[in-house]
Amino acid sequence: MPATIIHLGLGLQMKSVTPRYFSFPVFVFTQLAIDTEALYFLIKNESPVHRFLHTYLGATLIILLAVLVGRPLCQWGIKLWNTLLKEKYYRWLYVTPKISWRAAAIAAAFGAYSHILMDSIMHADMQPFAPFSLVNGFWGAISDFHLHMFCIMCGGLGIIVLWLFWETREVLEATETEKEQQVSNQGH
Ligand SMILES: [Zn+2]
Repeated sequence: MPATIIHLGLGLQMKSVTPRYFSFPVFVFTQLAIDTEALYFLIKNESPVHRFLHTYLGATLIILLAVLVGRPLCQWGIKLWNTLLKEKYYRWLYVTPKISWRAAAIAAAFGAYSHILMDSIMHADMQPFAPFSLVNGFWGAISDFHLHMFCIMCGGLGIIVLWLFWETREVLEATETEKEQQVSNQGH
C-alpha cells in the first residue's frame, strides 16, 4: 500500500505459468483484504499504517478468509461477469466460474505472503514477524525502483504469455470441464 496495483504483476506471472492451479481473482482478493488495513489508517491519518494484517501471522488469517469467503465471492463475481457479457465477446471474455480449492489456496498463500515480503522491502513501518520479533531486516534490501520494475516486468510477461496461450488455455479448460462431467456422470 498505497501501490496495491504493483502487487498484481506477480499474480499475473503466476497465472500465466500455472493457469489451472492459480486463481487470479482470489489473488486479487488477498491484496485488497490486506491493504484495507493500510487504507483505513491512511484515511484516519494514523501511523503506522502497516499493522497486524501486514505481518505473516495476520496474512495467514487472510489466507483462510480468502479461501473460505473470497473463493465463493469470486465465483459469484465471475458468474455475474459471464451473464453480463455480450454474446460476441463470449468466446474471448468468458471465464470458467468454478475455482478449485487448490487454485484458491495456492493463490491466497502466494498472494498474502508475497504481499508481506514486498511491503517489508518497501516500507519502514513494517514489522512482518510481529509479535515474535519487531525487527524488519528486509527494509531497503532492493530499491523501490528496482522492485517496481521487477513487478511491472512480471506483469508484462504474464500478460504476453496469457495472451499467446489464451486459445490453448480455453481448450484446456474445456477438456477439464468435460472430464469433470464424465467423472460426475460415472458417479451417478
Ligand atoms: Zn500492503
